[in-house]
Amino acid sequence: MASFRGFACVVPELPEAETIARGLHGAIAGATIRSVEIRSKKNVLAPRGVSFAQRVTGERIASVTRRGKYVVFDLGSGWRLVVGLRMTGRLVVGSREEPPGTHVVFGLSGRRRLLFADVRTFGRVRLVAPGERWDHALGIEPLGAGFTVEAFAGMLAGRKTPVKVLLLDQKRIAGVGNIYACEALWRAEVRPSRPSRTVTRAAATRLHHAVIDVLTRAIALGGSSIDDYVDARGARGGFQDVLSVYGRLGAPCARCGEPIVRTMLGQRGTWWCRRCQR
Ligand SMILES: [Zn+2]
Repeated sequence: MASFRGFACVVPELPEAETIARGLHGAIAGATIRSVEIRSKKNVLAPRGVSFAQRVTGERIASVTRRGKYVVFDLGSGWRLVVGLRMTGRLVVGSREEPPGTHVVFGLSGRRRLLFADVRTFGRVRLVAPGERWDHALGIEPLGAGFTVEAFAGMLAGRKTPVKVLLLDQKRIAGVGNIYACEALWRAEVRPSRPSRTVTRAAATRLHHAVIDVLTRAIALGGSSIDDYVDARGARGGFQDVLSVYGRLGAPCARCGEPIVRTMLGQRGTWWCRRCQR
C-alpha cells in the first residue's frame, strides 16, 4: 500500500458507501438504539428544537441504505440518520477498541455498539425528520434505473464543462468521485478535459457503461482502500489492486503501454493515458 500514500483527500465514494451500508445492514438491521453518547456536538445535526439523543434513543434500525456517498439509517418511526463520511469518517460496529476521533457512540441491543469516528471532523451525522427532503442537492443515482444513456447524453449536451468535472458534480450524478471518474474515463477512452458537449454519442455510450461497470466492479470488490477507507468491520476493500490509472503516475497503460500521466483538472489530480484517451 505504500505507493498510495500521499493522496490526502481521498473521499469515500459510492462503492465505499455502498459497501459500508451493506455491511451495517447485515450487522445491525433490526437492532434497537439503547443509548446515544455525543462527544462532539459539531458532528451531529438535528432539526431545530429536536434533541438528537432523545429522539434517537429507543428507535429500531429498520435498514441501512445508501444515497450518493451518504450512508442512511432508516429508523422504525420514519426518522432517518444520514451520515456523510466526507474525508476520514468511519462507521464501525461492535469494536471494543475505539478508533481515534470517536465522536458518537450508539449503544445497541445485543450489547453492541455503533461508533462514528472522524479524525478530521468534517463528517456529519444528521437526524432527518419523516418526509424531510435532505437530498435535493444530489443528482441521479448512477446505478439506478434513471441513469440511462439518454439521461447521460442530456447532461453532456451543450456544456463546456470538462467531462470529468461533470462526472464529479454531485448535483448531476451522485456518488462518483475522483477514483471512479478517472477509471471510467480510461475505460471509455475519453480524454478527461474534453468539453462535455464535444463527447460523441458513441463515446457517451461507452462512458455511461464504463461508469456503471467500474462502480459495480468496485462494489463487488468491497470498494477501494486508499488512506482511511475501511468498511463497517474494519476490512479493507480490494479495488485499489485493480486500478488502471488512478494513482499510477508513470506506470504503463494496460492498453497501450504509454506511461500514465497526472494533470490537474477542476483542482483535482487526474490520471489518464495521453495516447488512448483522446
Ligand atoms: Zn493507453
